[in-house]
Amino acid sequence: AVKAVQVHKAFGDLHVLKGVDMTVEPGSVTVILGPSGSGKSTLLRLINQLETLTGGSIEVDGEMIGYKYVEKKGQRVLQTLNDKEVAAQRAKLGMVFQRFNLFPHMTALENVMEAPVHVRHMGKQEARELAIHELKRVGLGERLDYYPSQLSGGQQQRVAIARALAMKPEIMLFDEPTSALDPELVGEVLNVMLELAREGMTMIVVTHEIGFAREVADQIVFMDGGVVVEQGGPEIIDNPTEPRFKDFLQHVL
Ligand code: ATP
Ligand code: MG
Repeated sequence: AVKAVQVHKAFGDLHVLKGVDMTVEPGSVTVILGPSGSGKSTLLRLINQLETLTGGSIEVDGEMIGYKYVEKKGQRVLQTLNDKEVAAQRAKLGMVFQRFNLFPHMTALENVMEAPVHVRHMGKQEARELAIHELKRVGLGERLDYYPSQLSGGQQQRVAIARALAMKPEIMLFDEPTSALDPELVGEVLNVMLELAREGMTMIVVTHEIGFAREVADQIVFMDGGVVVEQGGPEIIDNPTEPRFKDFLQHVL
């Protein structure tokens, strides 16, 4: 589970998140909607500790991220986690970005094997089997030895998903995974995500794909101006309450 409580984030004078509360249950899919600049990516980046909080707290798996309480002279004080502790927390999360960020000089298989070998220190053979398994899972069992430049955008994004899955995350974060794709390639990536959701993966997905949100999401969170303006089950897409959410939906549908 992920629990964000009164999360604030400022970049200098720019107050980007102004008290965001969000709870994501294990095995559920949360879709975050919202206009450009509303703070969606910032929220995902905070959960994955690519940014540090200005205020509030985030729990992943019941554990506060970035900090821990320690006893000091009989007092409980908050202490920043060290790099190793942060890495252990981040290992629970897989993230997929709009841009695929694959290593161009490595094949699909090598891209997926990279982190298990170099981060997890897994043996080459075991990593290879794992990578083949994950690439099959995203429908790329026939493309193991292709380089990113030889793959379509949709295939590249599926390699990126396989690469994240190879690290055995408990939670997957997706930041507009289909926004950079040609329209005809969007479906194959959404299908892989749908399959993951069916397998019970906990997912937080930033997307403008309203159809996916309606079909797959257990929870919709609509953000605007750094706050959650409306949230609820997928039915709120067809019955929005807040004017800003109504307005947003009219523009994306
Ligand atoms: P989009 O739909 O365009 O991806 P978003 O909802 O993901 O938008 P964010 O990327 O979270 O929005 O950005 C929210 C605001 O924070 C924007 O005004 C952005 O310019 C600003 N911002 C994001 N990252 C930084 C940064 N590292 N330094 C300064 N400002 C930033
Ligand atoms: Mg964004």
